[in-house]
Amino acid sequence: MPQWTCNKGVSTIDSERVRRNAREIAALVGVPILAVVKADAYGLGIGMVVPAVAEAVAGFVVFGVAEARRVREITDKPILCLGPVGDAVAQQYLDLKARPSVCTVDEARRMRAASPALCVDTGMQRFSCPAQAARQALEAGECKEAFTHAVRPQQAAKFIESVGGRQRGLVLHAAGSSLLADPSCRLDAVRPGLALYRGAVRISAPLAEVRDSRGPAGYRGFEVPRHGVILRGYSHGLRPGPCLVNGRKSRVIEVGMQSAFVQAEPADRAGDEVVLIGDGLEADEIGLAWNATPQEVLVSLLRQGGTSQA
Ligand SMILES: *Cc1c(COP(=O)(O)O)cnc(C)c1O
Repeated sequence: MPQWTCNKGVSTIDSERVRRNAREIAALVGVPILAVVKADAYGLGIGMVVPAVAEAVAGFVVFGVAEARRVREITDKPILCLGPVGDAVAQQYLDLKARPSVCTVDEARRMRAASPALCVDTGMQRFSCPAQAARQALEAGECKEAFTHAVRPQQAAKFIESVGGRQRGLVLHAAGSSLLADPSCRLDAVRPGLALYRGAVRISAPLAEVRDSRGPAGYRGFEVPRHGVILRGYSHGLRPGPCLVNGRKSRVIEVGMQSAFVQAEPADRAGDEVVLIGDGLEADEIGLAWNATPQEVLVSLLRQGGTSQA
């Protein structure tokens, strides 16, 4: 298992769990999986995730050409780039055997040689083609694939209508992790990111010190009977929220730049383990406390400052 250790703790990525997640999604949906590995696989690492899931998925989804190049070094599977093409030319995608996403009739025409996928706007209102222009753009790019970034089932329905219905020779996909459970959204493929990574990340840090609190403590004067300190702070992507201390549910009370206060019990000692994610404490629950998405929790806690840097 890839593991980074430093005096601020240990980050572990369970590649077997990612593989199992991919297999379970495949069994659930019954259509090909396009594994979303953008942003270095949400921080878990393209180099770890791509080999782990390659056999269970039909292809990979990244944001830009640089990420496509990294995936291409590992696998021959098809790659779709989600991000705007900007001033790129079709040859750049052809060289990588990657498909660009296009949003306008002009882009579709310009990328035609690279088998572009049309991204249709069904509400996201971000680099995508207005539904009314979808058929014209499909034709201009001779597209064999179209998708929409949907979070509600109605968007999948609107998407199908915009491209003129499901038809032979046109691969359609709409569902990310949040719509996998809805059979009407699965279409010809699904594009999960988060669902591949659930349960695969564990980050822990030892208590650097523990003390019985005397009056208001920390920057904002929090009051608890006993608190501990870990050497991870907001520079490592940490925020106040739930944690586990010696396996027991506790909380990160206050976060400084390179350290944080956690609520402790009388038996807790320096060196004892604080789990920030993992062991059943998942990104979804942490995100509720952070007022952030689970995707943001993963990327935040896994960013470089949180792992390999001493
Ligand atoms: C990021 C992304 C996904 C994956 O989203 P999850 O919610 O993490 O599964 C799917 N499709 C598009 C277009 C995306 O940008």
